[in-house]
Amino acid sequence: MRLDKFLSHTGFGSRKEVKELLKKKRVFVNEVMEKDGKKAIDETQDIITVDEQIVEYQKYTYYMLNKPKGVVSATEDREHRTVIDLIKETDLVKGLFPVGRLDKDTTGLLLLTNNGELAHELLSPKKKVPKLYQAQVSGIMTEEDVQLFSKGITISGDEKCLPAKLTIKSVDEKNNTSHIELEIVEGKYHQVKRMVEAVGKKVVELDRFSMGGLFLDSALKQGKYRELSEKELKILG
Ligand code: URA
Repeated sequence: MRLDKFLSHTGFGSRKEVKELLKKKRVFVNEVMEKDGKKAIDETQDIITVDEQIVEYQKYTYYMLNKPKGVVSATEDREHRTVIDLIKETDLVKGLFPVGRLDKDTTGLLLLTNNGELAHELLSPKKKVPKLYQAQVSGIMTEEDVQLFSKGITISGDEKCLPAKLTIKSVDEKNNTSHIELEIVEGKYHQVKRMVEAVGKKVVELDRFSMGGLFLDSALKQGKYRELSEKELKILG
């Protein structure tokens, strides 16, 4: 990797800012002062310091994204914008992919990483990682639905879901709508929509706000993202 890319990637600012750092003789590679940003370094072996502090090489990158509607949870798509198209650092962070999928019209928390192992852990059905959604529903959700969901509802005729926690936040009898929260521990195709459909109602808006104990940062507007903190990474395990 080029030295300027490495420094930019590890938080030392834009290429221009990194150039300044180098010019000011603040960067050393294996104890030798380096002013050329184009210098090729081995980020896993070489010792890079800025102001005599070792710059740790970050093997993996983790972002939380507040996914907007209209983009697909894929790395490439011929027709649509993908969640990866929203990330500016893709020339620095290679191999980024979304951890699981949200439908094109679903908003909210989506993790992006290049750590396949963590993604596998979070998506493995065995791990029963909790996912929390809020949804606007057409139709009135009832206590009976809460019971049905808690026992494990059957969707699409023959697919049995694991018990799920449904909370009815509000109902609007006049407009025949409900606002719900739902916690599920699986990731079946269109699962939330199909669960609601199974009790005769329809999801009209769907938003995920938590996954694996990690909550979407409320300061992140739709389409915005940021790196996970150390504390957040620990929550994911
Ligand atoms: N369930 C759905 O129906 N859609 C999503 O995007 C996520 C969960």
